[in-house]
Amino acid sequence: MVELKNGVVQLVKDLGAYEIRIADPSGFENAIPGCRPHDIWKHCNSVIVFGLFVGLDYYRSLQLERKTVGENRIMHIFRDWIQYKVAEFLQERRLNAVIPTGLFDQERLIHRLSLKLAAYEAGLGVYGRCGIIITPEYGPRVNLGVVLTNARLEPDQKLRKFNPCRNCQRCVNSCPPGAISEHRNPPTGYSRDRCVGFIQKLREELCNKQFLCGYCYNLCPIGKKWADKPAFQLSRYETLSDLPARERKHLIMRC
Ligand code: SF4
Ligand code: SF4
Repeated sequence: MVELKNGVVQLVKDLGAYEIRIADPSGFENAIPGCRPHDIWKHCNSVIVFGLFVGLDYYRSLQLERKTVGENRIMHIFRDWIQYKVAEFLQERRLNAVIPTGLFDQERLIHRLSLKLAAYEAGLGVYGRCGIIITPEYGPRVNLGVVLTNARLEPDQKLRKFNPCRNCQRCVNSCPPGAISEHRNPPTGYSRDRCVGFIQKLREELCNKQFLCGYCYNLCPIGKKWADKPAFQLSRYETLSDLPARERKHLIMRC
C-alpha cells in the first residue's frame, strides 16, 4: 500500500495541491455523532485530505463586491475536480471512493463531514482561535478537499508541535462582533453562532454587497510562503474575457 499512497500523493500534487495527508477514520472523536467517516460510509479505511493554497485574494475580494464571489466558487469547482480525479484513480485500481458532500443539518449549516476536522486529524493543520484550520505553510489561506476510500493507506500523524496562536491575538482584536475569545484554548473560544449571526446581518444590511467577513482569515500572520507565491486572482477582472492571455493560461493550467 506504500506504492498506492505514493501514487495518490503524486497525483494530487501534480494537480496543484501543495500538501496531501491521510487520516485514520477511526479517530474523529470530536465529530458530531452521525458525521464521522464511518457514519457516512461504513467501508471507509482511509480519509485522504489535501490543501490548495488560495492566496489572500480569496476572502479579501469577497469584501469588495458581490461579483467576486465567483472566485470563491471557481476555487471550489477546482477542488471538487481534484477530488473526482482521486476517486477515478482509485476506481481504476478496483478500489472505491466516496466524496463527502452535502449538509447533515440544513438549518444549522452543518456539513456531513467537517473538512476542518479531517485536516486536523490528518495533520494538515491545527485549529486556530478563530475556529479555522491554520497550516504551517499558508496559515488559514487554504482550501481543503477530502476523499474517503476503502484503500488501506498509512495514516499520517497529527501536528503535535505546531501552536500558532500561543503568542497571538490578532483575530481576537479584529473580529467585529467579538466572536473569538482569548481566554479559551482553540477552537473552543470561537462562537460560531455569533460569527454567522454577524455575517447574516451584514448581508441583510448591505443588500448582499458584502457577502462575507473574513478579517480573521486575512489578518492571520501565520504562513511565510504566501507572499512569494502567486495566488488565484480572478477578481481583478470583470469578466473572463478581460483576462490577459498569460492569466488565462495560468487558470487553464490550474483547472
Ligand atoms: S490570528 Fe493569531 S490567534 Fe488568530 S488564528 Fe491566526 S495565529 Fe491564531
Ligand atoms: S469571519 Fe469575521 S465575524 Fe467571523 S470570526 Fe472571523 S472576524 Fe469574526
